[in-house]
Formats: sequence, structure tokens, C-alpha cells
Amino acid sequence: MKQMLINGCERPASDGATLAAINPYNGETLDLFPDASPEDVRDAVAAAQEGKRRMAQMPLKERTKMLMKFADLLEAHTSEIVGLMAAESGKPVMNGYYEMLDSVEMIRSYAEVGKHPAGDAFVDPSGSRFFTERAPLGVIACIAPFNYPILTLTFKVAPALMAGNAVIVKAASDTALTTLLYGKFALEAGIPGDCLQILTGSGSRLGNLLTEAEGIDAVSFTGSTQVGTHIAQACAKTLKRTLLELGGNDPLVIFADADLDRAVKQIVGPRIWNAGQTCCASKRFIVQKEIQEELAKRLVAAVGAIGKADPMDQKTVCGTLINEKAAKDVEAQLAHCVEQGAKLLCGGKRDGAFVSPAVLTDVTEDMDVARDMEIFGPVFPLIGFETEEEAVRIANATCFGLSAGVMSGDMARAMRVASQLEAGMVALNGTGNCRSTEAPFGGFKKSGLGRESIRESLLECSQNKTYAILP
Ligand code: NAP
Ligand code: MG
Repeated sequence: MKQMLINGCERPASDGATLAAINPYNGETLDLFPDASPEDVRDAVAAAQEGKRRMAQMPLKERTKMLMKFADLLEAHTSEIVGLMAAESGKPVMNGYYEMLDSVEMIRSYAEVGKHPAGDAFVDPSGSRFFTERAPLGVIACIAPFNYPILTLTFKVAPALMAGNAVIVKAASDTALTTLLYGKFALEAGIPGDCLQILTGSGSRLGNLLTEAEGIDAVSFTGSTQVGTHIAQACAKTLKRTLLELGGNDPLVIFADADLDRAVKQIVGPRIWNAGQTCCASKRFIVQKEIQEELAKRLVAAVGAIGKADPMDQKTVCGTLINEKAAKDVEAQLAHCVEQGAKLLCGGKRDGAFVSPAVLTDVTEDMDVARDMEIFGPVFPLIGFETEEEAVRIANATCFGLSAGVMSGDMARAMRVASQLEAGMVALNGTGNCRSTEAPFGGFKKSGLGRESIRESLLECSQNKTYAILP
């Protein structure tokens, strides 16, 4: 049985409760892990009070050294982590390698940039001088989703530590083993055990204990809009800051004058990646009617033959979904689309936790999939449009606003449309599934609050402190 990391010690839940890690590809139980109790949370929060003092006083040079060592260890153990992630979550190893490459690079970037904080200086008319520096927030609870367990967590943990905070991680239950392994390397790199702790356990129980706890100053969450909304409400009671990276139903608008070969590449690869479980993957393909039939034909040719394959195989492009329940949910969502009038051209067949890539046509703007129904799986709904205004209206007719894309041979038109799309990031000439650590990432509308990037996350994990020198 795996153990949690509390105050530098490996520990089971105080009441012995456990959950099981299941391999979604073959249904085997991989291991058990603790289901944290209220006492475990109290211990972690108490230890973090010492951790936050330690981190705040630790010289930047030391923080940098620690994170660089952490990056080196993760890099050296990439195969082990990628293999465990594939077994635990069905993520193809080919996808996992890229996740690790990005995560390692990201830790190094935060260590480099976070080493050079800057502040402001002011003089007021009476002659008082003021200057600012960035102070840590204190203890940040980092709640991670299952889909990119290492990458999304790194987006939180690395800037939080660099900015001088202690962190308590709540692993997604479907990727608890991977997260615990990540934590093991963090401690091995010299990150003190009260500065980085890892708890595992049920989202609703453990999650609520963390969001309501006194002694936690901020919650950085990536996951669904439903849980994110609940977290915002819970955090309001103790005035915790929240950073929320939430769901999406991102549009990709494709005009008839777009390069069709490029369009197919921009649609297929990024939507199949991670079996369609990517927050900023384009999930609604809004296509000018002249090319809709041709595009549908090409999509069926590209994905129609993809079947279930072992995530451990280097050649596997589409893994299983995170678990069988998630696959059943996608199956039910597809049936709902068909019931509302969509036509299923291929795929949508479930085998355990696997769902074969599905292409849907005849999707109209009033259907749920065209609006607020996020499908977290390899599904390609095609929605036709005639005019530019209509494309913008359909694209914006959703409660979400994470990312978007526009493809057109006419750059002026692409830019005109992009400027009207309600999304935190809009790609021109391709899919909005193009997140970079360098550029601010986050949602408009119900896709989130706050932004993540090297610069933005360091700011989100810290606060202005003003010093005054009186005349
Ligand atoms: P989720 O169900 O919201 O779970 C996310 C995390 O929250 C898990 O660790 C979960 O624990 C925990 N949790 C559940 N209930 C909680 C509560 N009441 N209080 C505190 N924490 C709680 O999301 P998911 O299914 O893992 O991820 C998929 C969703 O995340 C999609 O909507 C996707 O678009 C979104 N996402 C967004 C981004 C972004 O950057 N915007 C990135 C990736 C994913 P358990 O695992 O134990 O349930
Ligand atoms: Mg699993």
C-alpha cells in the first residue's frame, strides 16, 4: 500500500481507510492508497504553519537550487513516472513523455525567473518614500485534476514554492500513485517535508476539509467548473484566495478558404491527444457549410479505424479514458447528441474504459453539445454556419471561455473574428489547444478565475507588501 507524505513522513490514513488505484486498460487493481481523515488534514495544516515560515525565510538561491534538483530527479526518472501514469490513467506513454518534458522544463523556468523578483518605488508629495516587494501568501492548497497530473500540479507547486509558500497537495484520486511518486522525488530533492505535503483521498471529503480549513491561505484548483464553483463558495467563508482553472467547450471556427489539410491536422491530433481529456482542446468544430461534408469525410478517414490499444505501447495514439465510468458518461453524452438530432458518422463504441473516436455531423446551435456540454473524450461535433456573424454567435453561445481557434485564408477576417471570441486565448490559423508556459493561460466566463504562466503564476502566488520610509 502507498502512503501519504505528511510533515516529511510516509503515513497511512489515521483511521486506516484506503482507496484502490485501478488500471483502466485491463481493470487490474494496481495498489491501494490512503483516504485521508480529518486528523490527517489537521496534522498537515499544522505542519504547514512551520513550513510557511521556513519557505518565507529560505533565500531565493536555496529555493532555486531545490527546484533545479527536483527537475533533474524528475528528468532522470521519466520512464518510471510515465509508465506508472500509463498504468494508472490509461495515458499513452507517448503522451506521458511530452508531459514530463514540459513539466521538467517548467520547473527550471520558474526557478530561473522566480530568482529575480522586482518591485516598485514611489515618492509622495510630503516626501515619504515607498517601495514594494512580493510577499508569499502562506500555505497554498493545490488541488489537481487527473488528466495531466504532473503538468497541472507543476503549474501550481513550482511557482508557489519559488514565491516562498508551503504547499499541501490534494492528488486527483485517479492519479494518486503518480502524484505520490512525484512527491517522493520532491522530498528527495531537498524540499522540506513541511513545505510540500501530499494528501490523497476522496474529493468531496478531503477537498472540503482543505477548502474550509483555517491555516490555509489560498486554493489553487484545476478541474471541473462544478467543483470549482463549490470551492469558490467554500473558500469565501474564510476569505481564501482562489485560482481556478476550469472546464471548457472550446470552439474552432473553420472558414471555407482555410487550408483543409492543415485544418484536419489541427483538428485530429490535439483532440485525440490524451483520449480527448484536455481542458483546452477544441471541442466544437464550427465549419462553413461549403466544406462541411468534405471535412467530415476526411475526419472519418483519419480516425474511423482507431481502436483500443495498450497505453504502454509507444505507437498508441488514443488511450482509454480515465476510468470506465468516464467512458460510460461519454457514451451517454453521444446518445444524447443523437437523440437531439446529430448524426454519428463513425466511432463512439465503448470497450471498458475505451471509447473509439466519434465524428458527429448535423449538429445545430441549439443542441447541448454546441453550448454548455463539455465532452471529455475523443469526440468531433461539426456545426455548420454560413456567415461570419453566425460563426461568432455560435462560438460564443456557451457558459465557457477557455480557448478558441479560427482558421481562414483571409488573415484580416481571422483577426476580426478572433477579437470577438469570448475566450482567454484565441489561436489564429489553428486550434486553441496550444498552451505555453510563457503566455497567460486561463478562462473567461465559467472557465476560471486568474491566469497561469511563468510571470502570472509567480504573481498569483504572492502579494504586494509596501514598505514606507518616512521623512
Ligand atoms: P474534478 O472532478 O473537478 O476534480 C478535480 C479535483 O478536485 C480532484 O482532485 C478531485 O478529487 C477534487 N475534488 C472533487 N470534489 C471536490 C470538492 N468538493 N472540494 C475540493 N476538491 C474536490 O475534475 P476532473 O474530472 O479531475 O478534471 C476534468 C475537468 O477539469 C474538466 O472539466 C476539464 O476541462 C478541467 N480542466 C481544466 C484545466 C484548466 O487548466 N482550465 C486543466 C485540466 C482540466 P477526486 O479525484 O478525489 O474526485
Ligand atoms: Mg485509475
